[in-house]
Amino acid sequence: HDSHQRQEVTSDLRERSRQEYLKKREQSRLELLEAQIADEEMLFHKSALTDTERRQLEYQKEVLRIAKERKDINVDVEGYVMPEDYLTTKGKIDRKRKEQALYQRYQEPKGSVSGSGKDEKGIGGNLSELEQWEARQIARTKVKVGPQDKGTIPDADAYDFIIDETGIDFVLESTLDPATEADREAQSLLDAAERKQKSIQAVRESLPVYDYRDALLAAIEDHPVLIIEGETGSGKTTQIPQYLYEAGYSKDGRKIGCTQPRRVAAMSVAARVAEEMRVHLGREVGYSIRFEDKTSEKTVVKYMTDGMLLREFLTEPDLDGYSCIMIDEAHERTLSTDILFALIKDITRYRPDLRVLIASATMDAQKFSSYFDDAPIFKIPGRPFPVDIYYTLAPEANYLQAAVTTVLQIHASQPTGDILVFLTGQGEIEQAQELLRQARVALGRRIKDLLVCPIYANLPSDLQAQIFNPTPENARKVVLATNIAETSITIDGIVYVIDPGFQKLKTFDPHTEMESLVVTPCSRNAANQRAGRAGRVGPGKCFRLYTLWAYENELEDHTIPEIQRSNLCMVALQLMSLGINNLVEFDYIDPPSVTTVQKAIGQLYMLGALNAKGEVTKTGRRMAELPLDPKMAKALLASAKYHCSDEIATLCALLDVQSALYYRPKAEKLNAEKAHQNLVQPGGDHFTLLHIWEQWVQLEYSESWCRENYLQRRSLLRATDIREQIVRLLERIEVPLESNPNPADTSGVAKAMLAGYFSNVAQRQRGEDSYKLAKRKETVLVHPSSSLREAKPPWVMYYELVMTSEKFVRVVMEINPEWLIEVAPHEFKPSD
Ligand code: ADP
Ligand code: MG
Repeated sequence: HDSHQRQEVTSDLRERSRQEYLKKREQSRLELLEAQIADEEMLFHKSALTDTERRQLEYQKEVLRIAKERKDINVDVEGYVMPEDYLTTKGKIDRKRKEQALYQRYQEPKGSVSGSGKDEKGIGGNLSELEQWEARQIARTKVKVGPQDKGTIPDADAYDFIIDETGIDFVLESTLDPATEADREAQSLLDAAERKQKSIQAVRESLPVYDYRDALLAAIEDHPVLIIEGETGSGKTTQIPQYLYEAGYSKDGRKIGCTQPRRVAAMSVAARVAEEMRVHLGREVGYSIRFEDKTSEKTVVKYMTDGMLLREFLTEPDLDGYSCIMIDEAHERTLSTDILFALIKDITRYRPDLRVLIASATMDAQKFSSYFDDAPIFKIPGRPFPVDIYYTLAPEANYLQAAVTTVLQIHASQPTGDILVFLTGQGEIEQAQELLRQARVALGRRIKDLLVCPIYANLPSDLQAQIFNPTPENARKVVLATNIAETSITIDGIVYVIDPGFQKLKTFDPHTEMESLVVTPCSRNAANQRAGRAGRVGPGKCFRLYTLWAYENELEDHTIPEIQRSNLCMVALQLMSLGINNLVEFDYIDPPSVTTVQKAIGQLYMLGALNAKGEVTKTGRRMAELPLDPKMAKALLASAKYHCSDEIATLCALLDVQSALYYRPKAEKLNAEKAHQNLVQPGGDHFTLLHIWEQWVQLEYSESWCRENYLQRRSLLRATDIREQIVRLLERIEVPLESNPNPADTSGVAKAMLAGYFSNVAQRQRGEDSYKLAKRKETVLVHPSSSLREAKPPWVMYYELVMTSEKFVRVVMEINPEWLIEVAPHEFKPSD
């Protein structure tokens, strides 16, 4: 009875604060508009406004006048209504229509019809950007002006280069058109040009989710678990946590958490939301990703990777610090997200106050609902524009080259609008960047500016932010992205999508225990998400670099969830530390194979994390504290015995970035190889890494030293951050920070590493260059990048096994097989 009354009071308070908020917001919106108008009027008096801008000003004044007259400023809030009813009964569409008509009235000059008056066109004032550009192009083919054009290929050739010789033929096969006319009418309010001029607040209000703010908040209050499904870009990630904040969900000091499958998305979204809420990033709004925590005591809206929330369970199994958790991008079905589902489903049973939101793009909502005991689905209708889908007539042999050609083809022949290209990773993106640069040099000033913006996981955040900058007039933006741009990050202004149809996917073979990243065809689902990115601001086009036949016959419907293609060692240890012992019968939304689970448990047992009864040992509990692969965690624990935790912490950080540490530009290949050779230390690649670290610290993170040695400074900086975090964690697992007391003898460092990696050992085959893995009788080669490639010591320990043309072991260290008996006596007997 008491709690019921309290609930009534709180919901009453919430209601009142919501009303107040809405009033205030409307007030400040008007103030903002007034200020803006004042600014523009000043410019107007100085005659610094163009015709269009003047019309815009008139329009804004009109909006302000109407808004001031309106007595009820749209603050009537009712109970919980379903979205469809909401739209019709509230007459929102009517309001939008009125605003739209008003807007259009001020768009076109009065009485002017398109195509009127040659004079007007003559001065170029009313020509579209494209028309102006075309006119210039035509003028140029006739007369050659300017010294810079001398000696270049004639324009006609340039077009040959783009279209005829390397051009790709596409056929239009279908049009993806999920929206109705009414939806689109409402959308046209969001005309891209207009949006840029709107204040942040106005952008927020223009997002589809805004219309459902109150209905959504009411639904969240009524249902402990709510599935939210909405088109990418409708505002789920950036807006819903803010709505919750505004509605008072963080009043009692509890946080609103929102998980993201990707690091980049967590960082970029948090930055955006901090900006929208006008706070410093890391204060009220923060993010937490592995090895980087940008939150504080004050943080109430927290974005984080799903892996980080999973870690938080270890210290706070009931997530008591949160009032609300949003599992975002649920359709991605990452390993951590899948595990979170089960853990969160479990805590909702004894924390009825916790609100759980499962948000996804328009996919799989029904499946999530059934998993969460038939939780209601809240649909946010999108307002996407139709997208024409083109296929190639024949398969493309080199999709990277084909993608670049298509970019140039679009650039030369299609009206204004930015281009989004989906590639599989950093390497490909850099190659495409280089190819586009070369093409631009070859074409000179004959084409409009092409602004190339890459986005991938390891890109530094200042460069990441670049993709969101509005495209300057007279230029076209080309975003080269991994599948992060499929649903995690929305870039406005995209009209053309180029989809080669591939993605990089992690696969795991439980029998060889080999995890690898493989470029594979993407799923049909992903292909349709990609195409959808072209229809955000107006009708778009998607160019698929594969045939319709391939789309229909060669692509899978869905991507297999990560849990079914991963090594589960780390997750198994985490779950078992939480007291979940039966991993086979755990409440998975899609279960992993029993073999994979058994292998994981076997590995944990070998590492001493589990005892013979299958219980987590003290070692295991300490290992689980570290956000590291269990092998690495074990090495770090073992370093205490050999007094070299300093070195192992360094290795741990450098191994994390080693794949992006060295670089070898084609033009300077020999120099780079020589420089890398000079860094090599005896004993193997691990010692070379330690040497690089020493130099790096000694020369105070010198930029020129990195350049001279062809090392990526960015990776070293990241390693520096990671190392700092690990050193901090050492305290928590009670390992003192010590450096190898006798640097001349490196066997201690080797043994500590081996204590974690003893299963990654290979023996050279008699009279051969190849090695045999110690545990499985399989043949491997030392990777060409290793310094031990030539030396070929009889026994080696490796960091990873990769499969390219052959099976290679990478990052290799020479070992003495007798050490194995010392570091892993339960696994290796003297007779071995
Ligand atoms: P959803 O999660 O539904 O896909 P988001 O909340 O991520 O949608 O994005 C909504 C809108 O927020 C985007 O259309 C974009 O305009 C804007 N936005 C998101 N992140 C940024 C950013 N970093 N910079 C500028 N605008 C952004
Ligand atoms: Mg999102």
